[in-house]
Amino acid sequence: MKYCARCMYPENAKPTIIFDEEGICSGCRYHESRQHLEINWQERWNMLEEIASEAKAMAKKRGNSHDCIIPVSGGKDSHYQVWLLKEKLGLNPLLVTFNHAYNTPSGVANLSNLVEKSGCELVRYDAELDSVQRISSYMLKEVGDLTWHYHAGIRTFPFQVAVQRNIPLIVWGEHGFAELTGLVSIEDFVEHTRWARKEHDMRGYESEDLIGKGGITKADMSPYNYPTDDALEKTEVRGIYLSNFINWDAKKQTELMIEQWGFSGVRYKRQRTFNLYSTIDDHANDVHDYLKYLKFGYGRATDDASTEIRHGRMTREEGRAMVKEYDATEPESLDEYCHFLNITKQEFYGLVEPMRDKDIWHKGENGQWTIKDSVWMQEISNNEELARIEQNGDRTFGLDNRNLYYNEMDPPEPHDDINYQTWNKKFMVL
Ligand SMILES: [Zn+2]
Repeated sequence: MKYCARCMYPENAKPTIIFDEEGICSGCRYHESRQHLEINWQERWNMLEEIASEAKAMAKKRGNSHDCIIPVSGGKDSHYQVWLLKEKLGLNPLLVTFNHAYNTPSGVANLSNLVEKSGCELVRYDAELDSVQRISSYMLKEVGDLTWHYHAGIRTFPFQVAVQRNIPLIVWGEHGFAELTGLVSIEDFVEHTRWARKEHDMRGYESEDLIGKGGITKADMSPYNYPTDDALEKTEVRGIYLSNFINWDAKKQTELMIEQWGFSGVRYKRQRTFNLYSTIDDHANDVHDYLKYLKFGYGRATDDASTEIRHGRMTREEGRAMVKEYDATEPESLDEYCHFLNITKQEFYGLVEPMRDKDIWHKGENGQWTIKDSVWMQEISNNEELARIEQNGDRTFGLDNRNLYYNEMDPPEPHDDINYQTWNKKFMVL
């Protein structure tokens, strides 16, 4: 397996990344292009202000009290999106959330905090548990994804609300695929599309494709039905990404939200990453991420270490240590999921078997799968030395960051709210 000379990504990373002649991946190059002087962030901020004033004018014309919709989970990005639109752009957003039923106590606490601090109206769809069980089981067997309903829900329900309430603007945060692997260029000003929703978020499946499979009913799929073209055109809905207009920096934004609105990360050692503030709102993330490891041989620690390396806060050596420590760990919440989906752990591993990438996994005579390779097993050669970037004074594992990244030497300070302080493998439905 080939790995990026700068970050931790392997060449089988999904979605597809490409390496240039220096052995540096498209995700690293995308990150660099965002820092590039040619991008005039002031000009882009002005464009965003223009969009905001259009939204206000449109809401006034339509007699709407809300200027736009923000799809939220309660995480750090939701906090920042709402804060920016409300406090900096003077908009009155309608918050929309799709409750996927796999919540963590810290996720529920942060969503409640967001509603309280923003004072905004929240519309929530609570997926029926039985339907979540049916969809999750079927998609796990079909494509190895037990959170399909979550991605489909948060990419669809806000559009249903937009049509219903006649609100034309939906504001997303970061264009995630671009940031991780450089799939699209910052010059493209990519907006949300029906195509990207289906291909990236819903793995090529539309809601009607699932009806009748694994006992899934038409009613089960109702929250995942995208509005018709006619309805969308009538409402004139568009979905924009804030990361096209501002110099998106998750760490800086998280620190701002901790200070401004009391967002909180968790304070215990997590099982699949050292990052304490990202993707902490739902338990399924751990199993979802572990599935990625079982399929492709890398997980969340690879993603998080790559981000830190690109920002110059972590060296390649530190990144490799994180991948080694976390990527292969089976999360304890796997037991809960198998129980919820009514399957045994053996059945779970059996389902994943055909999805393993044989370039990275090897099945021994004894039937055990072993990984052939990982970035931490690789030598650091001249290519990697040349690809290093200048180190930032802000270190991932510096004392100032002890509550943001788990570090044995300087563990996080205790939190007085048990929801953030103690890990609980049970998931909360509401
Ligand atoms: Zn890279």
